[in-house]
Parts: sequence; structure tokens; C-alpha cells
Amino acid sequence: MKIGLFGGTFDPIHWGHLRSAEEVRETFSLDRVYFIPASNPPHKRRKPTTSARDRFEMVRLAIARNSGFGVSDVELLRRGKSYSIDTIRYFAQRNSPGHSFYFILGLDAFSEIDSWKDVQDIFPLCHFIVTSRPGSGDGMSYRTIPVAVRRGFCYDPREKAYRHRGGKYLFFTRLTDIAISASEIRNRLKGGKSIRYLVPLNIETYIKKKGLYRKHQEGRSQD
Ligand code: ATP
Repeated sequence: MKIGLFGGTFDPIHWGHLRSAEEVRETFSLDRVYFIPASNPPHKRRKPTTSARDRFEMVRLAIARNSGFGVSDVELLRRGKSYSIDTIRYFAQRNSPGHSFYFILGLDAFSEIDSWKDVQDIFPLCHFIVTSRPGSGDGMSYRTIPVAVRRGFCYDPREKAYRHRGGKYLFFTRLTDIAISASEIRNRLKGGKSIRYLVPLNIETYIKKKGLYRKHQEGRSQD
């Protein structure tokens, strides 16, 4: 089994997330991609606007019709900050040795990976798939790997990927450009503007029904 792990704040989930996961699933022949909403993301400058439960529920609704997708509450159930290494270890320990894991993240998130907790211990645990993202630059080469972690990798022409000395691979992949961000969606909602066609219809309905992201909610985390 080839399992994709797609972490994020998903505040809220949007078509950019969904299409990225689908293209990665297809390109890398993954059996399943798990969306993993962070409870307390250590790398975001601001706390999530909505509760972890609402963000989880929106992911659940958005992926419901895709049997290649799943959602995991592992980071919601864990106390403290949502460190990726703890999540990867959790999946690696719970599954049989025949499973391989692919951690999926956009270029914007990857560019900060050198600040992640125990980052050198992460690379031997799972493969990494780094995806393009509009506005995050064109770089998809050795020089794109942050300097502090670059040393551990060398290019493998057969796999067209960078092999870590621990044996796992780092893949760069170009996706269809979908310039949507959750912050843009939150800003639009705060300004009373339409978010139609930026998120699935059932997510728009959920947000409206629960009155999420309205002006008075700004800065208030309900986690
Ligand atoms: P925010 O605007 O609040 O920072 P976001 O839209 O970047 O949120 P996250 O939940 O932080 O969403 O993203 C989770 C992952 O999805 C990250 O690895 C990010 O790079 C990737 N991602 C988000 N939006 C897109 C997009 N439009 N295209 C490709 N990848 C995306």
C-alpha cells in the first residue's frame, strides 16, 4: 500500500487542496491520501480562525465522495503542537511494514522545512512529494531544498528524484496552477464577498450555516 499524508490547517479546505491531492494520488499511484488537519499548527503566524472540529468536519464533507481520500483525526486528538514527525511516526507504527508513506506538501510549506521539529529524523521515515503552488516560485531542483537539510540528498536519475541517505526519496511535481488560498477565502468572507467556486458547494453551505469566518470571529480560535 502506498499512502499519502497531506497535512494542513484546512481553514477552510478549498479546491486547491482537493485538486492537488487528486493529481498527486494519480501521478504517484497512491492507494489512498489522508488529509490530516492540524490542531495547533506550529508554523502558522496566526492561530486557525475556526475550531479543529469544524475544520475536520469540512474536510470530511469535502472528500466524502472520493474513495481514494480519507481524513485522519490524529493531530486533533494529540495535545500540544501538531508536529509532522509525531504524525508520520504514528502512521508508520500503526501499519504493517509493507506500507510506504508519502508526505505531501506545497513548495511554500517545504521552503520552511528546515525549521521543523526533528527534521533530520523525518526524512528516513517517509518519502516526500513537494508540489508546485502559484506564487511560490519555479524552483524545483537541488537548490530548492533548504540549505540546512540539502546535504542528506543526492539526485537519482532513474527515479528522477532526490534520494536521502536514509533511503527515502524527495519528489518534486508540477500541478495544475490553482491560485486559491484559505486566507483569501477568509478575507472574502470577512468582507461579505462570494466564495462560490473557490470551495465545494457543501463547504460553502457548512460555512454559511455555522456562520464561520465572519468579522467578529477574527483572531478567535475555538480549538
Ligand atoms: P493559508 O492561506 O491560511 O495559509 P493555505 O491555503 O495555504 O492556507 P494550508 O492548509 O495551509 O492552506 O495548506 C496545506 C497544504 O496545501 C500546504 O502544503 C500548501 O502548500 C498546500 N496548498 C494550499 N493551497 C494550495 C493550492 N492552491 N495549490 C497547491 N497547493 C496548495
